[in-house]
Amino acid sequence: MTDKCIHCGRKTNPGSGLFANRVPVFGTLEEKMGDGFRYPEGEWICRECDAMRD
Ligand SMILES: [Zn+2]
Repeated sequence: MTDKCIHCGRKTNPGSGLFANRVPVFGTLEEKMGDGFRYPEGEWICRECDAMRD
């Protein structure tokens, strides 16, 4: 279990400033690697990266 953002690798834990509005990412490590994420061990997308996806 990790609080890393799969896009930027920053922590999204409570108190980090990125906890609010973080989006959970589902799937195995292999699936996330196949999707080309830079930090496939992460299990979240932080609100800043989520905003950039739109
Ligand atoms: Zn991010």
